[in-house]
Amino acid sequence: MSTDRYPQRAAAAALRFELDLGHGLVDPFEVADRLGIEVVRFPVGDGSIEGMYRPDGGGYIFVNSQASFVRQRFTAAHEIGHHRLHGDQAFIESSLDEPDDWEANCFAEAFLVDPVGLGRQLGEVEHDVSRMVAVTCEAYWVSQSAAGIILRHFGLIAQPELDGFLERNWTYASLLREYGLKPRGEPDRGITQLPPQFRERALRLVEAGQLAAERAASMLGVESAELNGLVAVEEADPLGSALLADFPDSLD
Ligand SMILES: [Zn+2]
Repeated sequence: MSTDRYPQRAAAAALRFELDLGHGLVDPFEVADRLGIEVVRFPVGDGSIEGMYRPDGGGYIFVNSQASFVRQRFTAAHEIGHHRLHGDQAFIESSLDEPDDWEANCFAEAFLVDPVGLGRQLGEVEHDVSRMVAVTCEAYWVSQSAAGIILRHFGLIAQPELDGFLERNWTYASLLREYGLKPRGEPDRGITQLPPQFRERALRLVEAGQLAAERAASMLGVESAELNGLVAVEEADPLGSALLADFPDSLD
């Protein structure tokens, strides 16, 4: 399929080409590493934060490893999308479904599920939506819902077909087993303690009003009230903060 209409897909193809990744399965964590982006995978129990990208230094990515690993892979690819598409903007997200995030999602979809490779994978597969989704999940290690949505976005299935598929409430594992494919296991939950430099960064973000105190508190595993003793907490707008550009300190 063509990537012309979507510069985000073209950017995903360009990154695959740049790193000589071919058209098959990619590991977004390894890709971030190769790009010099630091990755922190850490479980935040209340699910208040899904991921974060900050351009500071070489850039760093935070992924809430409480989520299923297919979700973590998508989050990491989404944050790499911000890195490639949005340069020095910072993103802190409680959900990747914010409307403004579609560009990073568009990148993540095409980066994880390469359109050319997918075309080859599905070349011999009959037009049976559940089977097509299962093959996509198997080949590219994405969730069943992400795979279905990607097939829809790539124009390979129609919207009613996607709706019908989603209504059947497959899980990643049940869908793969149904088609005789082997679900991949869940890797570890990442690190169990935030590295000191990351704790420090989270506190600075709270201080700058770019990260809501409650969210930082759940990342750091403390009560929000305790943060008041650690930093001067600014009023942070939890949604507005998601798209804050990095303004120079001198700008007020
Ligand atoms: Zn985002």
